Amino acid sequence: MTKNGSLQIINPATEERIDEVTVSSREDLDRAAEKAKRGFEEWRGFAGLDRAEVFHDISRTMRVHADELAEIMTKEGGKPYIENHDEVTWSAACFDYYGEIARDSVGYLPAPIEPQQLALVVKEPVGTVACIVPWNYPLLLAVWKLAPALAAGNAVILKPSEETPLATRRMAELMEGLPEGLLQILYGAGDVGDALIRHPGVDMVAFTGSQETGRKVGVVAAERLIRANLELGGKDPFIICDDVDVEIAAQGAVWAACLNAGQVCTSSERFYVERGVAKDFIEASREFVESLNIGDPMDPSTDIGPMVNAKGRERVERHVGEALNNGAKLVAGGERWGEAGFYYKPTVLTGVEHSMRVMREETFGPVVPIVEVNSLDEAIEQANSVPFGLGANVYTRDFEKMLRCMRELRAGTVWINDPLTDNDAAPFGGQRGSGIGRELGREGLEAFQESKHVHIDPRVEKKDWWYPYGPADDSGRRAM
Ligand code: NAD
Repeated sequence: MTKNGSLQIINPATEERIDEVTVSSREDLDRAAEKAKRGFEEWRGFAGLDRAEVFHDISRTMRVHADELAEIMTKEGGKPYIENHDEVTWSAACFDYYGEIARDSVGYLPAPIEPQQLALVVKEPVGTVACIVPWNYPLLLAVWKLAPALAAGNAVILKPSEETPLATRRMAELMEGLPEGLLQILYGAGDVGDALIRHPGVDMVAFTGSQETGRKVGVVAAERLIRANLELGGKDPFIICDDVDVEIAAQGAVWAACLNAGQVCTSSERFYVERGVAKDFIEASREFVESLNIGDPMDPSTDIGPMVNAKGRERVERHVGEALNNGAKLVAGGERWGEAGFYYKPTVLTGVEHSMRVMREETFGPVVPIVEVNSLDEAIEQANSVPFGLGANVYTRDFEKMLRCMRELRAGTVWINDPLTDNDAAPFGGQRGSGIGRELGREGLEAFQESKHVHIDPRVEKKDWWYPYGPADDSGRRAM
């Protein structure tokens, strides 16, 4: 919430205001763009090994401050402390990874046109990159952009979410080894993000957020003809085949739906269960959901914390309410929890239809809507039936089914028997309406690089194909 030029930071577990942050002005933006340019020039003078050492220092410092950063994130975002602590260490690991792979290669050699020539493809930075991120993984999603962007030699202007700027501010303070100006932070809501990507000093935008905002960002990038990497929302399917251990599949399913109170871009939001195991799966899901601890996210025994804000919880209530009004059955949850805080109980629904919003739009809350299917064919068809394609999960022991799901599920990541495990060495991103471009892995570095083709002929000689062409002979060929 913005009030008198400040972001009011609310603890979602208590609804109390914990801090405020001044919204960045137009002058701040101009200054940031200018400083970023100077930081960029200085960063050019760093060899790959020197950059890697700066990154390893950042990684070490983040790990030393993991408790502090995790506590800030818990208080501003409501995600359980344990999950936030993991987030800090994954972010640190991402700096280590990009510090090293960025110096592994700075281009490649294609075969030249003539054997005496040399063809080079040189990888260069794009310039100043605007990174705009949401609130659900405030550090990790920022680092997935800024580590590869900086490793590729760019400067970064980062805009955290208006809900969660505090941990980002602290992380930036800890990044002492970077040249001055190379990483700038701007604070504010969508208007600040919009002004940032329209600024002439910005050469590229890397955005993570909702599909709706991503579309707007894409339009501005197209108007300005700057590169845009878009990581957007999802509506991930989760298929449970009838050959699995139902208890384990149910626990995996509930975790994939309720992690961070269901506010993960790759949260599983639609469950397709083969009929033979459906009854047992529903019962196991109910039992597991009801055994979870809801409460203070700072308490290490808490499984489910609050949602980030009232607006998010209201969206979940709308989706669940509409489903129940149209014939879905409530198996567990379906209501708020506690006196204060934006809590919503983990919820299991059956009897849902594909026409319902809970099966078509991003719910972004702790909801497990279950559909019984007659076959894997039907499950795959339904899984592919919405215009998102971020992630997809499958539980099966049958290798043939695994291969079918791998080939046929239209998603950027397919997880088989291990939901939602990220790997910073492998690309992450969405197919179809879930985004354009990839983060992480080598592709995540290339996203922030320009390719320059350099063609060298060491011989200074006139080429046969230059002017004058001369008259053509009878066959139409020209004399050289
Ligand atoms: P959001 O789209 O409302 O906001 C994301 C960011 O964009 C915020 O920093 C916001 O201030 C900024 N913004 C808003 N309007 C803007 C504009 N016109 N121009 C530039 N910037 C603007 O998303 P949210 O509610 O913060 O986050 C939840 C969404 O993010 C969900 O849809 C979720 O699926 C998605 N998400 C995607 C990924 C992924 O990697 N694909 C990861 C996490 C979250």
